[in-house]
Amino acid sequence: MQKVKSRKVRRTLNPQPLILYNSLTRRKEPFKPLHEGTVGMYVCGPTVYSHSHIGHGKSYVSFDIIVRYLRFLGYKVLYVQNITDVGHLLESGEDRVLKQSRLEEVHPMQIAETFTRSYFEDMDAVNVLRPDIAPRATGHILEQIELVKRLLKKGCAYEVNGSVYFDTRSFKDYGKLSGRSLEDTVEGTRVGTRDEKKNPQDFALWKRADPEHIMRWPSPWGEGFPGWHLECSAMSMRYLGESFDIHGGGLDNQFPHHECEIAQSECATGKPFVRYWIHNNLVTVNGQKMSKSLGNFVTLKDAFRKFDPLVVRFFILQSHYRSPLDFSDEALKAAQSGWEKLFETARAVKKELETATDRTAREKIDPEPFRERFLEAMNDDFNTPQAIAVLFDFTRAVNQRLNADAKPGMSELKAADKLFSDFAGTVLGILPARLERGKVSDGSLDVALVQLLIDVRAEARKQKLFALSDMIRNRLKSIGIVLEDKKEGTEWKLEK
Ligand SMILES: [Zn+2]
Repeated sequence: MQKVKSRKVRRTLNPQPLILYNSLTRRKEPFKPLHEGTVGMYVCGPTVYSHSHIGHGKSYVSFDIIVRYLRFLGYKVLYVQNITDVGHLLESGEDRVLKQSRLEEVHPMQIAETFTRSYFEDMDAVNVLRPDIAPRATGHILEQIELVKRLLKKGCAYEVNGSVYFDTRSFKDYGKLSGRSLEDTVEGTRVGTRDEKKNPQDFALWKRADPEHIMRWPSPWGEGFPGWHLECSAMSMRYLGESFDIHGGGLDNQFPHHECEIAQSECATGKPFVRYWIHNNLVTVNGQKMSKSLGNFVTLKDAFRKFDPLVVRFFILQSHYRSPLDFSDEALKAAQSGWEKLFETARAVKKELETATDRTAREKIDPEPFRERFLEAMNDDFNTPQAIAVLFDFTRAVNQRLNADAKPGMSELKAADKLFSDFAGTVLGILPARLERGKVSDGSLDVALVQLLIDVRAEARKQKLFALSDMIRNRLKSIGIVLEDKKEGTEWKLEK
């Protein structure tokens, strides 16, 4: 009861309605969940066969902001984000996880485990809150088989040679999310399955496993494995019900993945599947999509060697989630100096609070207009670049006060600290946790210390103290940190 009460209080602090862009209706709409005060949200999780890159970072940071903001407004959010460890096929028809396991000569589940851990490690670093439930596709084979059976019974699917396909002609709304008609959706049809399908747009719900396919499960149609689209429908409905509030994912998943999810879910239940579809735009490199297949990707782990993970997060939030984000080292460097300004001011306020007394100055910062403008930005489809601009304005106002002759008093500093903590901390998640806990030191001490040693070594070499510079290099190597001297300076990486 207590919790419900506090939720109501919070929401009165946000007098404006939350408006979000719904990809399904292609317009901005006021957010109204199915059940007052609670939100069910599902986001397509990673396919775990490689380390996450900046593109994944943009997607999961974007949805993290949505979850954080909904919770800040007082909603009780159940956030489900799956792990795809089977069924996500390449154009060649090979399973991504299985292909990687062949290359590395290990069991496919070892690949899934390794990269699931790597994914959460990176997400923890960029301060993405973990989902409440992270279901794995291989752990939900029964639910998927049940869904296929249901679709067969309803006449929306058909079986051919141990594979089951969804009959797209049976669902009149096919194409409603992407705006494509059945006629212009033949692309991507794989050679080898064309002969089995009634229509080229039909997609596999269940695939017959060839003899050498290790990932296989018994089913009423013989040994096989589930299709990628099927798993998201089965797992989202398992935890959130047959109709739920928000489904998110990358823009590249809108078609065919999400279109197919809608078709099979709505055919099976006869109910609307999702109220609000939210899609994040992609990360580009020189205008081209960053992707594993194009080979132009930068992993988050690589980026963290040069930049604090929170700088990467800040960089992502400087563009709107529905806008593309062009990646370059220069853009990250610019983000770093912006982030440092914010962070330094928030830290200065904390430091000042340690010695402040309760005096009242004639001039005072009034946080209220900043608070209102920040909420206004976030209420407008989670406009983080606008919200960050408000924080910069606030930072300027705070710095003016900190540098004034009449120092700010305790209550003024506390109000400023609360605004930073609520908005830069709780909502945007760009303040280091140590600062949040009241300490003034930076969160990424180890990165700063390695850089310090690199600087000391450079100085030692300048002074021709080569024994010392070698010692620094060797001692770092003994703890797994490898230095590489390049034209632009010394870089470091963790030994594999
Ligand atoms: Zn999905």
